[in-house]
Amino acid sequence: MALVNVWHLRKVAEASAKPCDICYKPTQSVLITPDNKDHFYTCQGHLKDRGFASPIIDEADVAAKAKKEAMDREIELVKKEYEEKIKKRKTTQDEKNKSEKGKGSDKAEAEDKKSEDEAAKAEREQDEKVFATYGIRRPCVVDHPTDQSDYQEPKSITCD
Ligand SMILES: [Zn+2]
Repeated sequence: MALVNVWHLRKVAEASAKPCDICYKPTQSVLITPDNKDHFYTCQGHLKDRGFASPIIDEADVAAKAKKEAMDREIELVKKEYEEKIKKRKTTQDEKNKSEKGKGSDKAEAEDKKSEDEAAKAEREQDEKVFATYGIRRPCVVDHPTDQSDYQEPKSITCD
């Protein structure tokens, strides 16, 4: 069987941690094929084990990421400056509000809701996030029980 040996590293929530497929240590790291058809859990130790997994570095991807990070930093900076401005403005507004009670609270509520939406969106993106791409040296370890109900004792690795 020809295996496309490309695996995307993703992270699951702490509550969804599963045993590493090789050493059975609980892990939040899961390697998934780009088509999502197969996956297996791998602990940090095994991800670093170059005899087992080797990172596939896509140079174009790395460059794109670096560019995006630089842009994000810039956006963050602009945001901060903007927030500082708003804060200053708010302080003067607050002083005004003392005389004009109640005004502006609707707007504050709308802003709260917006940041909630953004948090939910960030969470979704986190779920979809690919942390790295790996090639696996021993694709046979992928032969694992996916259903916990027919979970068996550790299989011996028969590659070598
Ligand atoms: Zn392990």
